Amino acid sequence: MMEDIQPLKSWSMVRDTPIAIAGPCSAETEEQLFQTCKLIKENIDITMLRAGIWKPRTRPGSFEGIGEIGLEWFRNVKKELNMPITVEVATPQHVELALKYGVDVLWIGARSTVNPFTVQDIADVLKGVTDVPVMIKNPINPDLSLWLGGIERIYNAGVRHIAAIHRGFSSHEKTKYRNTPMWQLAIDMKNKLPHIPMICDPSHIGGTRDLILPIAQKAMDLDYDGLMIETHIDPTNAWSDASQQVTPVRLAEILREVKIRKEKTDDTEFNSILDELRGKIDRLDKEIIESLMNRNKLVKQIGEYKRDNNVTAFQPKRWKAIQQTRNAYGKELGLDESFITQLFGIIHSEAIRVQDDVMNIEPEQAK
Ligand code: PEP
Ligand code: MN
Repeated sequence: MMEDIQPLKSWSMVRDTPIAIAGPCSAETEEQLFQTCKLIKENIDITMLRAGIWKPRTRPGSFEGIGEIGLEWFRNVKKELNMPITVEVATPQHVELALKYGVDVLWIGARSTVNPFTVQDIADVLKGVTDVPVMIKNPINPDLSLWLGGIERIYNAGVRHIAAIHRGFSSHEKTKYRNTPMWQLAIDMKNKLPHIPMICDPSHIGGTRDLILPIAQKAMDLDYDGLMIETHIDPTNAWSDASQQVTPVRLAEILREVKIRKEKTDDTEFNSILDELRGKIDRLDKEIIESLMNRNKLVKQIGEYKRDNNVTAFQPKRWKAIQQTRNAYGKELGLDESFITQLFGIIHSEAIRVQDDVMNIEPEQAK
């Protein structure tokens, strides 16, 4: 699908130099924007500068972006520092203005990707302007099809330089993150569109400065292609997202500290040890599948027994006991509790399905 998606124009796509995008959450004043970008450029070799010009805020009354004047400032920054610039666009008018002021790359924010009408409106004005790369953030809700749909709309407008930005998902569960990463969704996207550069936005996932480095490291370990990190000359006094922005000096430290691991290596000794360990994993996985098959046999037997004695497939007391004993044993052996809970959730619902099948077959049919 969409095999001809290209690396973003003029961006370094060499594996050991990830794409780095940095700049303030919002352009606030000409001085703040210029000084932030200048310090970034002086401290670290980045790919592109970012700034928010129009800010989609959850509640009215907070700073909603400086608007068109910010584009004028950003154009000057681009000229002075000789750096490509990127801004968020949420309406066709934003696209037109951004292009008028020479913005090099556009991005669609999480609150826009969520709405197919908005993405389509943006796609429609991009028809014929195919050389401007577009980055599409994940929608705020964890819906892979919606994210993919946003990318397809932009692709169908003729844009071929496309990237995805993973910025995490809203969740009703309280976690340490501002937006839960749900890494599996981004991995699934990578599997569907292997050509698409995947950029991680640890600032919006984490919501606090301290989480940026570990999230960025995790993204690099998952072979992401780049990072977008909100950077501000005076983070604590930023007009938006103050708790998650870092200074240019800290940004430089973070990008130096992140370890870039390679996807594969030609080292024969390394590869033979890896093959041996993988062989062991393959054997264990086979045993797990065989255990599941034996478990299923017992489940069927229980199903028949319950059917013949008119007993329900699902028995809450038994399910509780399964959860408690498996979690306790898992814990004893040092396994992650939520992993065991989820694993046995799946195993148990499969057991109910199998029993249900057995119980709904009449004994004569079953023979
Ligand atoms: C941003 O990058 O400043 C932004 C508004 O992000 P998101 O769309 O991920 O909330
Ligand atoms: Mn922000």
